[in-house]
Amino acid sequence: SGGLTVSDLAEKINKDTSELIKKLMTLGVMATKNQNLDAESIELICEEYGVEVEEEIVLDATDFDNFITEDKEEDLIERPAVVTIMGHVDHGKTTLLDSIRDTKVTEGEAGGITQHIGAYQIVENNKRITFLDTPGHAAFTSMRSRGAQVTDIAILVVAADDGVMPQTVEAINHAKAAEVPIIIAVNKIDKEGANPDRVMQELSEHGLIPEDWGGDTIFVQLSAIKKEGIDDLLEMILLVSEVEELKANPNRNATGTVIEAELDKGRGSVATLLVQNGTLNVGDSIVVGNTFGRVRAMVNDLGRRVKTAGPSTPVEITGLSGVPEAGDPFMVFEDERKARQIGEARQQKHIVEKRNDKVKVSLDDLFEHI
Ligand code: GDP
Ligand code: MG
Repeated sequence: SGGLTVSDLAEKINKDTSELIKKLMTLGVMATKNQNLDAESIELICEEYGVEVEEEIVLDATDFDNFITEDKEEDLIERPAVVTIMGHVDHGKTTLLDSIRDTKVTEGEAGGITQHIGAYQIVENNKRITFLDTPGHAAFTSMRSRGAQVTDIAILVVAADDGVMPQTVEAINHAKAAEVPIIIAVNKIDKEGANPDRVMQELSEHGLIPEDWGGDTIFVQLSAIKKEGIDDLLEMILLVSEVEELKANPNRNATGTVIEAELDKGRGSVATLLVQNGTLNVGDSIVVGNTFGRVRAMVNDLGRRVKTAGPSTPVEITGLSGVPEAGDPFMVFEDERKARQIGEARQQKHIVEKRNDKVKVSLDDLFEHI
């Protein structure tokens, strides 16, 4: 992604890589030779050696990766899993999402009025789980095609009276491509003609073999409509979360992904963000996709105003100058000037890219008509 490693920098400024690693250490930056350096560390090093930062080692300001420092292991703590529900149409995805929310939100957060912000969070056994409310396919296809990976665990809903269908297979392929663990929710077991064994058989043919049959895929039987088996499913999600050792560092500027965004008549640009690392605060200077601004207000999935949002938390924000797109990355910057600078650079790049696309399209059109 156009980063500059420690050895790259060493070469450019004519120093030994090992010397540079030591120097970085004295400056409080722990780095290995193949590690990408952020702009700040590069500046520090250049200052230290009295090297002018030349044009060619000035980093691409439109690439967030150039501003992200790696977390130290000791700064990482457990974070909630982000779960996406996938499956064939009418197999019960929406019903399951609603049932989970209904049971858990009324149990846990008395008086909370759920608000649709594209994702919600529940508490099970004192642990939080985040569910993406957007259709599973959209979350995987549009977001992943844009390089965003937001899901930790995929729940594959298969109706016990219908079995494996085309979109079931599609969902399996998406989850496998994303290397995300899959939990099977065999739904509608209350229905006459429900045949969970057939579902297990059919899924085995796609390499998803139940634990009972010597495989390692977790199957949960449930009735989303009767709210039966919901707790079993949530427990399995927690189990898989634990195995995955999902971690984040809440003590840094927030980074994450846009879940959805729109232009609201009264409030202007409204975006639901999933914080993936760090903590987002009201007042933060933020670049979101090709737009930027300051977080004016934040509302959680219960419609409550909040001042902060930690890792794996979905939150709706206002204060952006434009409307970003689902799947866009976001990043908070320490000072407003920097956010503006980077936001404008990204905006500019986006405009140029769009213009180039247009030129390309019209040239193609032209040749087609010759
Ligand atoms: P989606 O397209 O996957 O989101 O499916 P929906 O949640 O919209 O469900 C499709 C239909 O199946 C609706 O009529 C639901 O009421 C029904 N349904 C969902 N879950 C169950 C269940 O556990 N049992 C029964 N009998 N019907 C269900
Ligand atoms: Mg639905």
